Amino acid sequence: MRLRGVKRYHWARDVDEALSLLSAYQGKGAILAGGVDLARSPRTDIEGLIDITGTELSYLRADSAGLRIGATTTLSAILDHPQAREYGGGVLIQTLRTVAYPALRNMATLGGAVVSAHPWADIPTLLVALGAEVTYQSPEGEKRLPLENLYQTDFRRVFREGVLVEVRLPPWEGAFAFAKITRNAGDIALLNVCAGLGLREGRIAWARVAVGARPARGERLTWLEAGLVGEPPTERLWEQVAQEVRARLEVGEDRRASAGWRREVAGVLVRRALAQAAGKAAL
Ligand SMILES: Cc1cc2nc3c(=O)[nH]c(=O)nc-3n(C[C@H](O)[C@H](O)[C@H](O)COP(=O)(O)OP(=O)(O)OC[C@H]3O[C@@H](n4cnc5c(N)ncnc54)[C@H](O)[C@@H]3O)c2cc1C
Repeated sequence: MRLRGVKRYHWARDVDEALSLLSAYQGKGAILAGGVDLARSPRTDIEGLIDITGTELSYLRADSAGLRIGATTTLSAILDHPQAREYGGGVLIQTLRTVAYPALRNMATLGGAVVSAHPWADIPTLLVALGAEVTYQSPEGEKRLPLENLYQTDFRRVFREGVLVEVRLPPWEGAFAFAKITRNAGDIALLNVCAGLGLREGRIAWARVAVGARPARGERLTWLEAGLVGEPPTERLWEQVAQEVRARLEVGEDRRASAGWRREVAGVLVRRALAQAAGKAAL
């Protein structure tokens, strides 16, 4: 039986209460949002579940600084939101639609996906490419930092005593596209890519590319991004990109796919995502 050590279930009224409960459990408490991951957790040391779905962290707001999404907003709520549909050339919708299946998306939250951060997951790849910033509260106070930086720390330890409250997505002049490959619909990715670019006078003004499930978690290919700036977005360029990715991308193998296969497919997926982003950016 999963989570067999659980003795108590708490409904936190606000983030402060969730924090003090976490502190009282001294590492043996866990934040519960949608529960789709936690329900499968092999951890036997958790004694208290702290439900944060009543803490008013379910929202999506758009302003000149981009989108602000509360941590307990479900993936379905994001998919249904008109401003999410427009953001980044529709990349939120394009990605989240491929995450698992509707029943799971009705429960799963954005914050849960950020904290779980499975290496095969699509959401970290998406958010890192988009330059997401996250805000969390811990006993040391509130902190906001780029998700990319958070993932370079021991973030799981941070969330043993902290609560993620918000994900911010900056505005971009341009568009993003997402591509992934799975064995069948609803399965987890064997490789995923999120790429974006902006155009100025027919040339690439900025580019962002992240690749995940390789099998490591999504990270940006900054060497590729830098080389794209100033280039015209042509078929020839995309072919060069595919070759460069095949030659330089660090990939590994796991029981789902070999390194050689991942390297080959990564070239195709990055090219596909960039070409699609360029098409949207040109509209
Ligand atoms: C069958 C299945 C298929 C999936 N397929 C995909 C897929 O195709 N693509 C993809 O990207 N992802 C996929 N996922 C991952 C899924 O997106 C995440 O598991 C989900 O979003 C977790 O959200 P949750 O609200 O259910 O988290 P929970 O299960 O409630 O929590 C997960 C973890 O995060 C912690 N936590 C949650 N919220 C917070 C918070 N605000 N602050 C601090 N800690 C917090 C919990 O304590 C726990 O450790 C899949 C998951 C499952 C189970």
